[in-house]
Amino acid sequence: MSLGPARGTGGDPARAGGMAKFEGLECATRIGRFSYQHTLPARSAATSPEEFAMVALRASSHLPNILHWLNSVRTFAGEPIVGTGLAKRLADALGPQNGPQALAFLNQAKRHFKQAWRIGQKAAAEDLAPSTAPKVLQPEPFRHGVYNDLLLRSQLVTQSELLEPRLRRWENENLLLDRYSALKRLVDEMPQPHLANYELSVHETKARMDQVYALPPDICMDLTSVCNIQCRFCKYTHNHVPKAFLPLEHIKQIEWFKYAWWLNFSAGTAESIIHPKFSEIFSYVRDNNPHLHLSILTNGRSLVKKRLDEFYDRLDYLYVSMNASNREDYDRVIHQGDWEKFSTNMRAMKQALNGSKRPFVQANFVMMKWNLGSALQNLEFAAENGAHMVTFIHFYPHYIPDIHAGHEEVINSKFGFSDSLYFDKERSDEMFARVVDRAKELGVQVRVPPPFSKQTQIYFGNRWEDEVPEECGEPWRHLFLLWGWKSRREEATICCGLAADIGAYFDREAIRTTSGLREFWNSPILQAYRRTANGDNMNPVCAQCRKIDRFDPETTYWNQRDFFKFVDLPVPAHFEENYEG
Ligand code: SF4
Repeated sequence: MSLGPARGTGGDPARAGGMAKFEGLECATRIGRFSYQHTLPARSAATSPEEFAMVALRASSHLPNILHWLNSVRTFAGEPIVGTGLAKRLADALGPQNGPQALAFLNQAKRHFKQAWRIGQKAAAEDLAPSTAPKVLQPEPFRHGVYNDLLLRSQLVTQSELLEPRLRRWENENLLLDRYSALKRLVDEMPQPHLANYELSVHETKARMDQVYALPPDICMDLTSVCNIQCRFCKYTHNHVPKAFLPLEHIKQIEWFKYAWWLNFSAGTAESIIHPKFSEIFSYVRDNNPHLHLSILTNGRSLVKKRLDEFYDRLDYLYVSMNASNREDYDRVIHQGDWEKFSTNMRAMKQALNGSKRPFVQANFVMMKWNLGSALQNLEFAAENGAHMVTFIHFYPHYIPDIHAGHEEVINSKFGFSDSLYFDKERSDEMFARVVDRAKELGVQVRVPPPFSKQTQIYFGNRWEDEVPEECGEPWRHLFLLWGWKSRREEATICCGLAADIGAYFDREAIRTTSGLREFWNSPILQAYRRTANGDNMNPVCAQCRKIDRFDPETTYWNQRDFFKFVDLPVPAHFEENYEG
């Protein structure tokens, strides 16, 4: 896991010497500056280099994000770090197959963080004065500061070969655009516009614009409305929404894949890999959009070797809702499941993905009073079967009785409020502490709910241990295209927070085109969320999202109708009593 000697120096001793200095001082300076300028407040609030390293790890959540973060260091550091191969070596060192060693690696990197911390403090004190270290391969600066900024301090730095000539031409033609106009133009003109679109989206988020030009950078799109099992903690029941499978021809006609940066084939409540044309859809999207970070969420029952072979080095993130590690728990948690098939698939997963650089595999378990005793076994089962990260989450009891109100047979077939771990807090804290210790021994990353005994803050309707961001950027960043569980029709939503069943119905054919998606993305409900998600005039749903812990069975269930009254829009029909869909 050593960073190893500098590469890419072409054997030139003078250049190699320059690189060594560059790496030791300049890079540390840049990381230090980055930590002050661009990371979450939690990171720069760390009080020691060790804490800084650990907070960076926690804030990065999981390895792909660490890679993204390290890449951001390179991107935002002031000038591109050219030729040191640092990011590449870090990426190699932290590749998904090396997941268990990430902690050890960061420990090793402490030396760098220490230096970064010290120099970063100094740089901040000196008002970020330019470093005296040698500069390497710097492009000729533009006269127009906006273009320097775009080329050197945005995600677009990775497309500098395409971007720089374009900006030079604009400057030579005296076309000196402001940042917003330049980004809009780049979205339209760049052959691979996902980075310009992302930067434009960030710009519009910071400016809290309700009408936007950027398309959503992060899209979750169900390929079907159907699931092949019925988990008893989940709202899903067969035949609640019309059965549908998106045609391959429709996927091929979608124009906007090139603008997105992340695409998940699951928006929450269906099993996309059972789509009869899944292989063709996956191949088509992967082959034609190498820039996309592709994800799949699956319950594992149909995650057969053929699928895993398709995902080998081609899928970026694989989220497996395992939820059980033995037959008894599985049969209790899943209605109409198949332990034999599920466990066979899980046992084959590690072997099938062995040696792959991707996907990053995350296993999820919904935990309740009755299965808490299986938590350690769940962790070991997931780690044995190839998970890089294991996540334990609380059962969310409020949604099911709301969605299925009036259908007692459905409600009775699901878990209820009394199953929640909120009624067994001490045992829960004790068990999750043991899970964390065991994960360290196994060398697998783990996420558990914050201990009940600990003071926490609320964000996303959820308890958080870390400092929470003040602003919510979800209505600019995220689009979920799914089948609404109240409306029983094609409907979009914008977050995993408290906004649900928001009545943003869409016409699949109309949003196939770039202009159609942009028009829908600017529809009145979505604009209203952008206008009122932050600031003094916050809508009641977003305000509640920062106040209530939705997993707490004793919390008040919020009323989504209040949003529409607040923003003066008609309440969607699906909130009416006797709505038939
Ligand atoms: S409910 Fe509002 S504040 Fe919460 S995540 Fe969604 S948009 Fe953001």
